[in-house]
Amino acid sequence: MRTLNFDNRFYRELPGDAVTANYTRQVKDALWSSVMPTPVKAPSLMAYSTDVAEMLGLSDEDMHDPAMVSALGGNQLLEGMQPYATCYGGHQFGNWAGQLGDGRAIYLGELIHNNQRFELQLKGAGETPYSRRADGRAVLRSSLREFLCSEAMYYLGVPTTRALSLVRTGDQVVRDMFYDGNPQMEQGAIVCRVASSFTRFGHFELLASRGNHALLKQMISFTIDRDFSDWLKQQTHTLAKEEPSAALIEAWFTEISERTARMIAHWMRVGFVHGVMNTDNMSITGLTIDYGPYGWVDNFDPGWTPNTTDAQGRRYCFGRQHDIGRWNLERLADALSTILPDAVGLNHALDQYEAVYNQSLIDALVGKFGLDGWQETDGEMINRCFELMTRAEVDMTLFFTHLPHLNLTAPNIADLKIAFYTEQGYTNFEADFNDWLAQYAKRILQTTESVIARHARMASHNPRYVLRNYLAQEAIDLAEQGDTSMIEALLKLLRNPYTEQAGMERFEQKRPDWARHKAGCSMLSCSS
Ligand code: AMP
Ligand code: MG
Ligand code: MG
Repeated sequence: MRTLNFDNRFYRELPGDAVTANYTRQVKDALWSSVMPTPVKAPSLMAYSTDVAEMLGLSDEDMHDPAMVSALGGNQLLEGMQPYATCYGGHQFGNWAGQLGDGRAIYLGELIHNNQRFELQLKGAGETPYSRRADGRAVLRSSLREFLCSEAMYYLGVPTTRALSLVRTGDQVVRDMFYDGNPQMEQGAIVCRVASSFTRFGHFELLASRGNHALLKQMISFTIDRDFSDWLKQQTHTLAKEEPSAALIEAWFTEISERTARMIAHWMRVGFVHGVMNTDNMSITGLTIDYGPYGWVDNFDPGWTPNTTDAQGRRYCFGRQHDIGRWNLERLADALSTILPDAVGLNHALDQYEAVYNQSLIDALVGKFGLDGWQETDGEMINRCFELMTRAEVDMTLFFTHLPHLNLTAPNIADLKIAFYTEQGYTNFEADFNDWLAQYAKRILQTTESVIARHARMASHNPRYVLRNYLAQEAIDLAEQGDTSMIEALLKLLRNPYTEQAGMERFEQKRPDWARHKAGCSMLSCSS
């Protein structure tokens, strides 16, 4: 394997843990621990993203090089790699959970290509000092879901971490996710995830909770310098190493808040439910991170959560993501306020979060509904539509991709019948929907934009193809038999989610009945 260009700043510039064993412990005064991936039986490359490989300067030949496959399975290191797991904390389901850290993700280092920096991380590569009682492994099912979904999100235009490879380990992993009390053996797999930064809110929260102000300041300076360098160039404030000024920290927190707002508005636009918005799963750079029990809303329902651990409280359901984003930012603000004279600037940033979210959501809705701008009464009209969609059980993706088919001079919900899940939902709400459509058609007919331009705008805001939970499940069922054809098909399809692709009708179908309540398909638990 040829030599790659690694420049491991996190490892080199931030303090590490003096102990080099992997046993579970509290790691103080350090941001990372050295840890070797635990070798697996027989790593084999199941799939990889050609675009991510290209972004990293890796050719097809590189990806199939036995040394590379072995490295992506955690069995060997390539020259320049320095493996470590990082130390962070977090609020889980509303409660402070103390130290968490990378329990099953191991960084390989920072790869430089075309003047860009990429952290590479193996998820499921074995135990670390942060594994607590778990095994450091990941199963094929969840790895495949992360691999496909992070790529799908990227092509939807949603800020996200990405995935280079999906490697089957050849080992079995014990899981008991089907809640019958009997542990099951499942195939193990490892995803190599890629992002400019995997730093989370929780990295800062843990240092603040321990009163480690010097290290908190150092981590902030490091993060601004490495991960926000483009942003920093536009600031009037400069960065003094070890001692970031209050004004700079406040401006930086404003930027984090705005990025978080834009990311969540995208989730709402495409119908994505993260499912575990704990503060340890919130990226400091505003990327969608940690694809665990995420899901896509099929029938539009603000109360839906894919996370079975959350089924009672519905803290992380579709409709609450904006509120939870705010709550999480408040926890980050609490951490930052420990080194600031007052909270005025941080509160201002939270106001910005609301303002940017509202504007981003309005932009998304204007695009989705094909409006020519935002009028005061549009909010009410759209809320009415969402209420009817929820009550009548209407598929979100199909509703929006078929909305342009409506005959605006004689609008009839029959033209959108394909999006209804039940005959009963259709008949019960037919009249209400027709009233709504009359209002909507009137609103559209007021506009002067050409039909072609409006349809093009709607098409660019409304994906035709999303990684529906049942499609991921079909890919999993085949992959478990060694058949990766569905992974390949989905990867190809989801690269162009907004464009109609010939012969791909089967990927535009509503969720079939079997998938509705199937464990593992539309309902998932946290750790897998
Ligand atoms: P998550 O809910 O995926 O964000 O995980 C929460 C915490 O549990 C993180 O610190 C993870 O690293 C850790 N974790 C989850 N699954 C495992 C596992 N199988 N082995 C070790 N640590 C895990
Ligand atoms: Mg996590
Ligand atoms: Mg997870």
